[in-house]
Amino acid sequence: MTMTRVRAWASHGAKQKLEPIDYEAGPLGPEEVELRVEFCGLCHSDLSILNNDWGMSQYPVIPGHEAVGRISAVGDQVKGLRIGQRAGLGWTSASCMYCHQCMTGNHHLCGQSVATIVGHPGAFAEKVRSHWAWAVPLPDALDISSAGPLLCGGVTVFAPFATYGVKPTDRVGVVGIGGLGHLALQFANAWGCEVTAFSSNPSKMEEVRKFGAHRVVSSRDRAGILKAANSLDVLLVTANVPLDWSAFLQTLKPNGRMHLVGAVLEPIPVGAFDLISGQKSISGSPTGSPAAMSSMLDFASRHHIAPQVEHFPLSKVNDAIAHLAAGKARYRVVLDADFT
Ligand SMILES: [Zn+2]
Ligand SMILES: [Zn+2]
Repeated sequence: MTMTRVRAWASHGAKQKLEPIDYEAGPLGPEEVELRVEFCGLCHSDLSILNNDWGMSQYPVIPGHEAVGRISAVGDQVKGLRIGQRAGLGWTSASCMYCHQCMTGNHHLCGQSVATIVGHPGAFAEKVRSHWAWAVPLPDALDISSAGPLLCGGVTVFAPFATYGVKPTDRVGVVGIGGLGHLALQFANAWGCEVTAFSSNPSKMEEVRKFGAHRVVSSRDRAGILKAANSLDVLLVTANVPLDWSAFLQTLKPNGRMHLVGAVLEPIPVGAFDLISGQKSISGSPTGSPAAMSSMLDFASRHHIAPQVEHFPLSKVNDAIAHLAAGKARYRVVLDADFT
């Protein structure tokens, strides 16, 4: 039986610093692949799991779920991947592959899915493992040093465009221009939509236009938000803080949809008439399926969509986490694996 020791960075309890560890990965499962990590994005969900904000963390936590690297080992039942091939891994590392959701292509909704960083060692490590279906091949044209954040952040904001049939003639708003939002602006613009950015930070205005926004509105200014009343088909909310929900609902046209991808922990107060009178919807979604990830990567590579990233060596992961936690990331942090 082959054994594999893996060096990684782990936290042993909520709000503790990451420390170097190594763990025994055990034998590779027949349907598993192993990825030698080159780069890994730092996602806000890594912070949430490190801090046990969602009450589901299992320590030690090895964070990291936006991994890019080369396949270094394949189980004997693995399909479609070979050793040496570049692939990426996101929030999910396995799904059952036989439930109704998996069989209808909604693997990300599988009730038995395994999150890459919950009860499973993540990618702030030399190596990370997943079911073969979740190790998504990367297009050759994609810049791998910035691709990591596409694997979670990217697919999270891209998937709703396909799921809800957003049209190029639609007008799309994006609330919160951070790691997710700056990607959402790029996708919405390349999709052909007219794009409105709602940002809490007016100092970002020029950059926000560069990402593809046609107009920029302060998300803290109710009067400003209401100037956009009755103008949007889709409002994608990437912020994870409470907003002026009634004002934002008014930005939707009849049949409009407010779609949540940011994990706002406080309940959202909504009056029934705010939805009924304009036949409006509120919805939410997590990440996306392997096929959605694959389509997103292809679309990003064709349209030159890339996360704007800041690099830290993985050995400085605690500095990177502090940088993100302080709200200083512009717009996404990528850690470069530097095990020697
Ligand atoms: Zn399933
Ligand atoms: Zn994530």
